[in-house]
This record gives sequence, structure tokens and C-alpha cells, in this order.
Amino acid sequence: MTYLYKKQPTYRPNDMLTDDTICAICTPPGRGAVAMLRLSGPDAIAIADKLFRSPKEGKRLADQPPMTMHYGTVSSRDGRVIDDVVVCLFRAPHSFTGEDTVEFSCHGSTLVQRQILEALIDAGARMAQAGEFSKRAFVNGKMDLSQAEAVADLISSESEAARRVAYDQMRGGFSRQLEELRQQLVHFTSLIELELDFSEEDVEFANRTELSTLVARILGVVTRLADSFRLGNAIKLGIPTAIVGEPNVGKSTLLNALLGEERAIVSDVEGTTRDTIEETLSISDLTFRLVDTAGLRQTSDAVEAEGIRRSEAAIGKAMLVIVLVDARQGREAADVAVAQVGKMMRTGEQSLIICVNKVDQSPADWANDEWRRQSMAAAVVRMSAREGRGLDDLKRAMVEVVNDGDTVAGEDVVVTNARHYEALVRCREALTRVSVGLDTGMGGEILSLDIRDAIDALGSITGRVSSQEVLNNIFSKFCIGK
Ligand code: GDP
Ligand code: MG
Repeated sequence: MTYLYKKQPTYRPNDMLTDDTICAICTPPGRGAVAMLRLSGPDAIAIADKLFRSPKEGKRLADQPPMTMHYGTVSSRDGRVIDDVVVCLFRAPHSFTGEDTVEFSCHGSTLVQRQILEALIDAGARMAQAGEFSKRAFVNGKMDLSQAEAVADLISSESEAARRVAYDQMRGGFSRQLEELRQQLVHFTSLIELELDFSEEDVEFANRTELSTLVARILGVVTRLADSFRLGNAIKLGIPTAIVGEPNVGKSTLLNALLGEERAIVSDVEGTTRDTIEETLSISDLTFRLVDTAGLRQTSDAVEAEGIRRSEAAIGKAMLVIVLVDARQGREAADVAVAQVGKMMRTGEQSLIICVNKVDQSPADWANDEWRRQSMAAAVVRMSAREGRGLDDLKRAMVEVVNDGDTVAGEDVVVTNARHYEALVRCREALTRVSVGLDTGMGGEILSLDIRDAIDALGSITGRVSSQEVLNNIFSKFCIGK
């Protein structure tokens, strides 16, 4: 028997080719004031020297210190000057990729960009694949896998909350936490595996009570992280929000008022909104994905029945449900409508906000805090969608409901990546088996297998254990030039 964890090497994806030099346009496609091309790999500086001419006679980039900028021209292979450029010089390992890197800033004409790219390829570089710079950064140990993934998330972040979560993950907050847990588990497996070496002597190096406590603690952390995915994913993609209510209560008017544009068709013929309409809305630092649905009323009209089915589907997918009632119809009608929506919701997982609309017609004093509690709603907003009254209250309530889970606002790590989520679930399952095993006095061999499963699951998040296929799959989702 061996101490598996001591002997097992950390996964090094050394079958990945990094001995060539890659290049790409890093700025977005199209014309701009300035564009940037990146060249990275062992021959980056030599290749750059073939194209770059400084106004200073005989100046070569190869002789320049790292982290310096140089003004000059870039020429094509036949010696024709393409553009004036500024190059930025990095030397391994102090660059994004960990390799020698040269970045060219040129004028942002699409033609200039393309010609410089061609010149770089003529001079011996290869066109980079999607995510290849980040992949090299990972291979060269500049960042772990979850950090590299956070780079892609940061680039695509469009709300302040999404940016913050991605930035924290990129800076390694998440990895540090996982690595700590992993180390503790590694410590225990090595003790258990040590026992197996002395199996004839019936010794116990790993204190079972301590292990039990540790497993319970790690299970708690892993569960909390896994549970944060629902919110994390919502932060990344936008919080799915269904706007529901009987026909004509003003759902479309509300959607338009929130978005500040005429998007949904407003009409006083009941059942006008037969399609669901989806729009994104940013409030403070969150993005909401609003779905305006057809009315909820039971009907014989086949088309509208289909609309109602979609309302149900929208509620099913929502994290936040906004139900509108008509102030003029009074409290009892409101109770019926809210109860109908309540039946379609999953308690504990979804939040409800009630909007009592058309208060320009009837003050609806009954819509007070006591009624809110009875209705099991997170908030009740009295409003007039048509006149724009109460809109700010509604927006505030929407943000509060989401922040209530304390995860967005707090310092806590939030999981936003489906791959990480799956690994955490796998880890939780393995640890649950360990926990049961400890309770039932299971033998060390089995315990250590399950702990290793948990360790591997955690390790897969940061890339300590990963296959070429997984890596290719992850990095291919990046954009070219990153
Ligand atoms: P939906 O069927 O729930 O989407 O309702 P609409 O947004 O199409 O609105 C139905 C009717 O109610 C339209 O004539 C709107 O102008 C009107 N309406 C919407 N909001 C208000 C409001 O706050 N006050 C008043 N008085 N009428 C409103
Ligand atoms: Mg409508």
C-alpha cells in the first residue's frame, strides 16, 4: 500500500503545445481609434524584430529590457511600411501568458490590423485559437483554471454584480478557499492510508471524531458554495423575473415603464399579450431578465390558453415573480389572483413581489404591510404604471429581494460557473458517503476512496486534475485574442 496522495504528481498538461509562437488581434473586430495585436511564445521577440523598425538606427527589441514600450514602424515581408506602432515588450515569466510577449498597438483600421496579422504569420507566428493565450497562462502556472475561466466571465460581465464576482474569482478568492479544503482532506487521506500500511497492527492515526468534524465542516462549506450557484448563475445571466397577473392589469404598461420604451403592446382589449416578451433591465448593480406574460385568467380561447401555459412556464423558470393586481378590483380579487400565482411557485426558492397597479384610480389602502405578510410576499408596491408612480419603489424592492440572500452584497464567494457547480455537487456526494461511512465504522480503504473522490472533485475546479478534453472544451469558449 502506498500513500497515494504523496506519490501522485499534480496534473501537468504537458502534452499541450506551447513551443510555437501565436498571434491574434485582441481588440474587438471592426474599426477603432487604436487596435492591439498580441504575439506570444518563445520566438515572439525575434519575430517582432523582423517587422519592427525603430527610428533609432540599429535598435533591436531583443536588446531591450522587459516591460518597456517602443515607438516605430511595422513592415510587411517585402519591406513595405504598414503603420506606425507602439510595441510593449514582456519577457517570460512576467507576462499574461508567462511567455515572451510583444503587444503591438496600431491605428485601428481593419486593413492595418489584418496586414500586421499577416506580416506576423509570414514572419513565423501562428494564428492563435480561441482562448489560447489564457490556456497558456494556465499551463504556465500564471493562474489556475477557475481564475482563467473568471477572465472570460469578466470580459463578458455586463452588470456590476457580475463584474465583482468574476473579478474576485480571477483574483483567486474562490481558488484559495477550495485549496484550503482540499489540503485538509489530503492530510486526512494520507493518515488513513498510513493506517492501511500498518493494517496488521490495528492502529488508528486518523482520529475518527476529528475527521467526522472536518467532513461536516467541509460539507457545510461545499453545500453553501453549491447553493450559491443559483444566485451566481442568475447574476451572470440576469435574474429571471416573471411579470404575471390577469389580463389588463397593466403588465405590458409596467414593462414599458421599467424599460422606458414602448416594447410590449399595450391595449385595453383583454389578452393582447399572447406571446411572452423578454427584456433585460439593469437596476443598481444587477441585471434582471423580465418576462411579460399573457394573462392568467382561465379561458376557452386556445391561443390565450397557450399564453397561460407560458405564464406558468415563466413562473417555473423565474427567481423573482412580480404579480400585478388592479387596485380598483379590491382586496378580495387581489387575494384570488395572488393565491393563483402562489400555487405555481416553489416556496423557499422563489420570491414574490405584489404590485397593486392603477392607484391613480383607487388608493387601495388595504394593500398594507399586514396584507403583505398574509400574502407571503417579500414586498407590496402600490403604483401607477401608466403615470410612472411607484416605479422607484418597485425597483428598490426588486434589488432588496435579490440581495436578501446576503450573498451578492456580502463578501461571500459566489459560484457562477456550471462546471464548478457540478464539481461541488460531486464533492458533496462523496463527502456524504464519507460521513455515512464514518458513522457506520466503514474500513479505511473505502473511506479513503471516497475522500479521494471529494479531493478530485475539488481539484477539478482549479485544474489540478483535468483532462485535455476538458481543457479544450473550456478554452474554446473564449474569444480569439484572449
Ligand atoms: P396587460 O394586459 O396586463 O399587459 O395590460 P396593459 O399594459 O395592456 O394595460 C391594459 C390597460 O390598462 C391599458 O389601457 C393601459 O393603459 C391601462 N393601464 C395600465 N396601467 C395603468 C395605470 O397605472 N392606471 C390606469 N388608470 N390605467 C392603466
Ligand atoms: Mg400585456
